[in-house]
Amino acid sequence: MTRILVAGESLIDFIPDASGPLASVDSFDKRAGGAPANVAVGLARLDTDLDFWTRVGDDAFGDFLVETLADEGLTGDLVEQDPDAQTTLAFVSLGEDADREFSFYHDGTADTRMKPGTIDDDALAAYGWVHVDVLSLDTEPSRAAIIDLAERAQGADTVVSFDPNSRPERWGEFSYLEAAKQGFRLADVVKATPEDLREAGFEGDAPELARELCAFGPHTALITLGDEGSYAYATADAPWVDEETEVTHDGYTVDPVDTTGAGDAFTAGMIAALSSGESLAESLAFGNAVAATTTTAAGAMTALPTREEVEAFRTE
Ligand code: ATP
Repeated sequence: MTRILVAGESLIDFIPDASGPLASVDSFDKRAGGAPANVAVGLARLDTDLDFWTRVGDDAFGDFLVETLADEGLTGDLVEQDPDAQTTLAFVSLGEDADREFSFYHDGTADTRMKPGTIDDDALAAYGWVHVDVLSLDTEPSRAAIIDLAERAQGADTVVSFDPNSRPERWGEFSYLEAAKQGFRLADVVKATPEDLREAGFEGDAPELARELCAFGPHTALITLGDEGSYAYATADAPWVDEETEVTHDGYTVDPVDTTGAGDAFTAGMIAALSSGESLAESLAFGNAVAATTTTAAGAMTALPTREEVEAFRTE
């Protein structure tokens, strides 16, 4: 079984009790979150061989995240608690049209202090797949840490996947455009929405966006299209195809309760399937099934399905 490493932030999402602007929200529910944490928990529930490198504060919120990750089997030295920094907090507001906005409390927080070289070359050699996210690239030293990890993984012939998750609220010191393109240069597989890629300066429909993206270096582009499913494009360099290939999956028809985290669920499903040798078409169907299942329950991390739940969903 391919051993997988996910690296990046874990944070607390504060979910409002009602829709409307943040200033008018009376109370919030506390939930474990962060895109890499969602991907890691998604992969854990799909029974993969996995480590998660993250860093939280040595505070009550950090304790809650460490416990939540441990409940999923994600423990060990790579789940770091920083004695000198707090945990990142994200307050979410839900617009009337269910669009989300985020207000991040993120200055100097623990996840921004992930250090280059924490995983040395010997440790890195154990992994066949490394997944990272653009949000680790918005601050130093986590930016240097994740770039160093992805560069060495690429050199070691490990598959590197990257999510250019655009969150305009997060970009100050560094530019999203430059960070996303740096990720594209280092990645073999990119999972993105059309909005992420347009934010990064690309134009066109999913097939055009995928080809533009692969011109930067990735051999595989996975583009999610909400309730319309997803699109995958792989050049002949991708290990899961023999020749340039494109696959479309129309998605699954469900009654969605909450689509938060559907993209992270899709990423977990794709990595689980591709890393275990499934074809691109089967992996895309599996990724869509994991994502669609996630939308049928409230929350992001809490709604991520087990492998048995995905299999039951697909046979319905
Ligand atoms: P998020 O930011 O909420 O995590 P995203 O914007 O990154 O999501 P989407 O393209 O909205 O990603 O959704 C990812 C995948 O989730 C889709 O490719 C699809 O398989 C599934 N999905 C999303 N919304 C729905 C829906 N309403 N019905 C069925 N499947 C859905």
